[in-house]
Amino acid sequence: MATQTIVKRITGNAVTDMEIILEAAEIIKRGGLVAFPTETVYGLGANAFNPQAVKKIFEAKGRPQDNPLIAHISVLDMLDDLARDITFKAIDLAKAFWPGPLTMIFFKKETVPDEVSCNLPTIAVRFPENEIARLLIEKSGVPVAAPSANLSGRPSPTLAEHVIEDLYGKIDMIIDGGQCAHGIESTIVDLTLPGQPVILRPGSITTEMMSKVISECCSPSAYFDVKPIELNTPPKAPGMKYTHYAPKAKLILVSGTAIKAASAINRLIRANPSTKTGVLATTETKDLYDTSAVIKNAGSRETPEEIGYNLFRILREFDKTDVEIIYSEFLEEENFAASVMNRLKKAAGYEIINV
Ligand code: AMP
Ligand code: MG
Repeated sequence: MATQTIVKRITGNAVTDMEIILEAAEIIKRGGLVAFPTETVYGLGANAFNPQAVKKIFEAKGRPQDNPLIAHISVLDMLDDLARDITFKAIDLAKAFWPGPLTMIFFKKETVPDEVSCNLPTIAVRFPENEIARLLIEKSGVPVAAPSANLSGRPSPTLAEHVIEDLYGKIDMIIDGGQCAHGIESTIVDLTLPGQPVILRPGSITTEMMSKVISECCSPSAYFDVKPIELNTPPKAPGMKYTHYAPKAKLILVSGTAIKAASAINRLIRANPSTKTGVLATTETKDLYDTSAVIKNAGSRETPEEIGYNLFRILREFDKTDVEIIYSEFLEEENFAASVMNRLKKAAGYEIINV
């Protein structure tokens, strides 16, 4: 069903910006859907305590019914409305990284609708740092359930334009707050398992950062970096089994040193001159490529944060060209670069050429 979508841009004017936030909060209170910026990616929010509103998120995104949502809070008190059995480890992580791009999984309170958690006994909670997100939650007066504001399977939105592309006419409002600071989704850490916390999704808050705050942190989930087809037990985070972040063209990763990867990609381009090819390159390598390809620079290999910031935007830019295949370089998988590579590997459906 078509919906009239209001699009409003936050410009930094305290009075008009607050009017926009209050208008959006009214929509959340009425059971509508609002897309809003966070420091990770844009979220598509609904009142987490309104099952009908939460159902609309799944419809608008075409999201599988068993992929649970993250509940967003604007003050630590709100955690008590959602979660039970909150451990000291969780409190230490909250003190260190909230507000910020860290999602924690807790056992849920009975009052949290099963629509949010997709019938799991647990609930994912995040306290975002982005001021627009925090004000929207605060003025709505409820936790806001929000997955990324894209159509399921597409690259996550890091600009309001991306939300417009995917969801215009399907949701009530889009708040345009410019480009998201981190560009990849939050780290998800599960605190409900026996033993040490488990990272279900890597992000800007790395294992190295968390292990400075709590002892015995954290083992990566056996699931977050494997091809879904190779799983023979159901993943703990149901979302892990679905295709993610995919551009329209086929994406193939080429691992190896920057120089070797660039040479191999050039050989592939020349071997198939009739195929329109794109290259996801880096600042250091972008001038090494055959100019018959559409070359996009994701940022410097020295600053993976820059590559994370640009990644989803560039994948969507390739969709606007006529490339049929995209080759991407590979970063060494350590710290934040490992989180960026996690998204790239999923976007490529784990197609990797080793050179
Ligand atoms: P997104 O849809 O991009 O916002 O991602 C939300 C992620 O959080 C998905 O991968 C979900 O599977 C994960 N998630 C949400 N709730 C839970 C939960 N209770 N247990 C495990 N993972 C969860
Ligand atoms: Mg998503």
